Amino acid sequence: MPSVGKNIVRLAEAILISYPLCDWCLGRHFPSFKGEDDETKGRMVRGAVKAEIKEGQCFICQGIMHSLKDSSSKVLELLRDYEFNEFLVGAKLPKEVVEREDDLRARFKLRGGEAIKSAITREIGKKIASSTNKKVNFRSPDMTVLMDFVSGAISLNPKPLFVYGRYLKKARGLPQKRRKCRECGGKGCHECDYTGFMREVSVEQILAQMLTERFKGKGTKFTWVGGESAESLVLGSGRPFYAEINETKLRRLDRPEMFKEQDGIVPKEIRIIDKKPRGSPGFIVTVSARVKFDEEVNEDKLNTLKEVLQNFEVKVVPLRKKVFTKKIYSFDVKLIDGKEAEMLFRCDGGLNIKKFIGGSNSGLREEGVLEITPNVSELMGVGANCEVFDVLDVEVLGE
Ligand SMILES: [Zn+2]
Ligand SMILES: [Zn+2]
Repeated sequence: MPSVGKNIVRLAEAILISYPLCDWCLGRHFPSFKGEDDETKGRMVRGAVKAEIKEGQCFICQGIMHSLKDSSSKVLELLRDYEFNEFLVGAKLPKEVVEREDDLRARFKLRGGEAIKSAITREIGKKIASSTNKKVNFRSPDMTVLMDFVSGAISLNPKPLFVYGRYLKKARGLPQKRRKCRECGGKGCHECDYTGFMREVSVEQILAQMLTERFKGKGTKFTWVGGESAESLVLGSGRPFYAEINETKLRRLDRPEMFKEQDGIVPKEIRIIDKKPRGSPGFIVTVSARVKFDEEVNEDKLNTLKEVLQNFEVKVVPLRKKVFTKKIYSFDVKLIDGKEAEMLFRCDGGLNIKKFIGGSNSGLREEGVLEITPNVSELMGVGANCEVFDVLDVEVLGE
């Protein structure tokens, strides 16, 4: 063991006469003295000076360093409920603690020693690492522990969890998205059970509940890959979605897991991803639409339509945005009776199906689309109306 040099003893004596310091706060200010850790160094320097101290009387920390053992046990207790891989510890200290340390350093020209805040976070980090076998990560930890020494609170902040999945919708009548609570406008009130959303079943509500229960999280935010109307089914491989789940206790999905069907919604291919996509990814949909005509049509008319609509581009004129085009890749149609047909087509995602079939017939101004041209009504010269459409497949571009 190194012996404590004369200069250090002299300086320590000068400090300790007027400023009682605990072993940690003493050892920390002698970076040139190589020892195991601050506490051991402090004990050796104190021994050489023969100064004593009562617990909690440290001029700088007033007992905080002593309490870290307890704080660490509390953190470990709380962390038990959480899954995480890498963590980071942050600390909030009373201003006076930092000021007292700065004053003392200035007064005795103490240089190069670690600041109390980093000593604290390092100390707690060491305890967590050795008990959990997890590593500290400064850049993107999936768990951040915040120790507030002002209020005494410890808060655990898991990184949001990102999930990708698809869903099938086998029952009609469910809207895709949750609507904000009419009473509170989304803030959360008694009426909505403090969720901020209407108490009604929707695809979003079902998936959100499933995911928050599975991962023991609090809130969810969805990024959809297109949408369908409440009356539409989603079949085939299902519609993809991305979800951000906040404050999750769990964040592992070791093997493909079966999520149960609920109210006609079947979640599929749920997996954890690193981050959510920027914006909505491009996609192509295959749709089957039930169409009613204003007057009788014959097979010839439908066959002409079928020929025209192969690899066909339409212009979408939104209410307030720039005009853009969408493509119909393939098209097929079957007459059911003279005034009704089933149309099957594969087209760019985001094309408003009802508007594309009905044209100005469909009155969908409220959805922000003024006109799609040419549209099926226009091309046939007969008013057509899409009663209901189902999504048969959704292909995400680049997936
Ligand atoms: Zn101290
Ligand atoms: Zn409410």
